[in-house]
Amino acid sequence: MSTFIFGHTTPDSDSIIGAISLSYLKNQLGEDTTPTRQGEINPETEFILDKFGFSKPELKTSYAGESVYLIDFMESSQSPKDINEATILGIVDHHKLGDLKTDAPLEMWVRPVGCSNTIVKQMFDYYDIEIPKNLAGIMACAILSDTVIFKSPTCTKEDTKACKELAELAEIEDYKALGMEMFIVKSNVLNATKEELVLRDFKDFNMGNSKIGVGQLEVVDLSVFDNMKNELFGAMKKLKEEGKRDSILLLLTDIMQEGSQLLVLSDTPEKIESAFNITLKDNQIWLPRVISRKKQIIPFLEKQF
Ligand code: MG
Ligand code: MG
Ligand code: MG
Repeated sequence: MSTFIFGHTTPDSDSIIGAISLSYLKNQLGEDTTPTRQGEINPETEFILDKFGFSKPELKTSYAGESVYLIDFMESSQSPKDINEATILGIVDHHKLGDLKTDAPLEMWVRPVGCSNTIVKQMFDYYDIEIPKNLAGIMACAILSDTVIFKSPTCTKEDTKACKELAELAEIEDYKALGMEMFIVKSNVLNATKEELVLRDFKDFNMGNSKIGVGQLEVVDLSVFDNMKNELFGAMKKLKEEGKRDSILLLLTDIMQEGSQLLVLSDTPEKIESAFNITLKDNQIWLPRVISRKKQIIPFLEKQF
């Protein structure tokens, strides 16, 4: 029986490509694994997979009785609902320690780097397995995506090194230009509903007794959102109520200006304000230099809730 490998709910490029790259490595090592995904892929991921000739992993949302590897997450809130009925053989991740539990020992590759695919690259090196050209291409793109072309404070020397080596294997000459091309695809927000936009890169966290949802849209020019803030707030309000969330935050990140407009709907806005030492005006504020949800948003919310 095949072991399934998948990333978090509302998968991003790292989650999808990580499932593909880790599955390839595991299969080379003699295991029988299949990459899967918990949700629809986003336009950026679609662009990357098309460019290097990959099809998307199959959609699978239930894993009771299965053996699994998790990549790019280890939170129950980002897991399939029946994760407790699955056997977790291993985790490859670059996030904070989550709340999942296992009954048996497991393999863990967890490191504070900018992208799960950086860790997978290190695993390939560790096992001395060759990375095919097209696989190296998508892995390089995952690193460019997660590190916001090396601009994110989460980016480490290991990420830039891995990305450069992968780009070389893939014969990508100007990987920063490819990164920009990806972010331009990502910046197209006009063909989606506002609810789809809020959910495009969205994560729920259980903090204390509160459920906090945090979405992020990374674009090359924030002006694309100029005439849609009210509608975005409308979609956030609906999701907050439907999901019984205590707070819902949306980061509109400008990767050129390197900062984020933060939109907030919360039952306890004072907690959000003291988390970042800010005063919200019309439920929003510009946060200069803030581009990482993982490093610059979540830890400060955790302390408050
Ligand atoms: Mg991710
Ligand atoms: Mg990641
Ligand atoms: Mg991200």
